[in-house]
Amino acid sequence: MAFPTSHPLASKLQQNVSLARFTSARIGGTAEWYLQVESATELAEAVHFARNLGWHYRILGAGSNLLVSDSGIAGLTIHNRAKTVHIEPGAQHALVFAESGVYLPALARQCALQGIAGLAWAATVPGTLGGAIFGNAGAHGGDMAQCLRSVQVFTQENTVGELALADLHMGYRTSRFKQNPPEFVILSAQMLLPFGSAEQIQVEISHFQEYRKRTQPPGATMGSMFKNPPGDYAGRLIEAAGLKGYRVGDAEISPVHANFFVNHGGAKTSDIQTLINQARQTVFEKFGVQLELEIEIWQEIKPENCI
Ligand SMILES: Cc1cc2nc3c(=O)[nH]c(=O)nc-3n(C[C@H](O)[C@H](O)[C@H](O)COP(=O)(O)OP(=O)(O)OC[C@H]3O[C@@H](n4cnc5c(N)ncnc54)[C@H](O)[C@@H]3O)c2cc1C
Repeated sequence: MAFPTSHPLASKLQQNVSLARFTSARIGGTAEWYLQVESATELAEAVHFARNLGWHYRILGAGSNLLVSDSGIAGLTIHNRAKTVHIEPGAQHALVFAESGVYLPALARQCALQGIAGLAWAATVPGTLGGAIFGNAGAHGGDMAQCLRSVQVFTQENTVGELALADLHMGYRTSRFKQNPPEFVILSAQMLLPFGSAEQIQVEISHFQEYRKRTQPPGATMGSMFKNPPGDYAGRLIEAAGLKGYRVGDAEISPVHANFFVNHGGAKTSDIQTLINQARQTVFEKFGVQLELEIEIWQEIKPENCI
């Protein structure tokens, strides 16, 4: 695909960029075209531009919930680094406005320093705000749905719109954005968060960090591989199926927590997919439970399929 050199974003465009270094699992092939955007305006412009050209495009946040195909991705990968944050303190609450590429743990720490409560859980979730809204990320009893007031989006009609919380259809690790990905691109969000004691919030964050260190493996992972099925835990089921420590090449079902799959250095996406299939099949055979992926797999899209 040719890129018109006259467009303002053309000078920032790169070709055949490895996406492995932009994912937390450090796995995956190359993006045919890659563009890093620094503001919500640029994010919207990049999407508009790809649409005008009829290019397939994807939005990459921190790549912490993704497995990218070994054979790479056709079209444009837009890497969202839009990070502006404004905080308006009120009497009891702060109105926090943030662009969608802000790193969630950084936002949580910034809020904590100002005594803003409600985002402490997010200090240990290593993604962007946009990725967290997309999947309604959550931990330690909190989630995005509890924090959001509204989300600014780029629509399919190439306009900027605003969606209130009630219109986001947030559920367990899901949202309207995940249910219908082409509908909107998330540009920024507004959160209404209560004030609390800065000291107390910091204690809470330290507690969550310590809990993670104790219960989850270090190293290159995608976080939880599967959603927890109703009334149970995916990690418990995979462990009970005897798969803790099961390994294919450099990919391993963690001996620390069986819902975490670790890349020990040279794992390929195909190795992780073999582990996924093994875990699903064994858990189904032993317990009759169908495990549903929490992570997303970016499969190769052949150029002829690009719209
Ligand atoms: C060690 C570790 C621990 C984790 N712990 C947790 C946890 O406790 N709770 C939890 O919920 N998750 C957890 N995760 C998973 C992950 O951090 C979250 O899902 C995170 O919210 C993903 O954000 P991201 O920016 O990395 O999204 P990415 O992985 O980059 O993208 C995920 C999806 O979101 C879409 N997307 C991203 N930004 C936008 C946007 N602006 N507009 C539209 N679509 C967008 C992408 O296109 C993609 O489809 C963990 C991951 C790791 C590696």
